[in-house]
Amino acid sequence: MFFKKLNSAELWDKIQKLRDLIKREPSFKQRKCWNCCKDLNIYDFISDNVKFTPEYILKLWQTAFLEFHCCECYRELEKMN
Ligand SMILES: [Zn+2]
Repeated sequence: MFFKKLNSAELWDKIQKLRDLIKREPSFKQRKCWNCCKDLNIYDFISDNVKFTPEYILKLWQTAFLEFHCCECYRELEKMN
């Protein structure tokens, strides 16, 4: 759930905007973590990257050559570095 992370009006506005953008995106990608294959949620992604605009978040999300990982795998990766 992404709601627990909603702690600012700014983030809420961005999520609303992102929802509108996704509605207009005919080929919105379903993404899975490249490591554990867990389904990923774009709203978690924007919650963790509030500094980015919704347009930029969607652009990254839709980029074919980028791979994403879930929060758990990201934490594991950080530990290894
Ligand atoms: Zn994962």
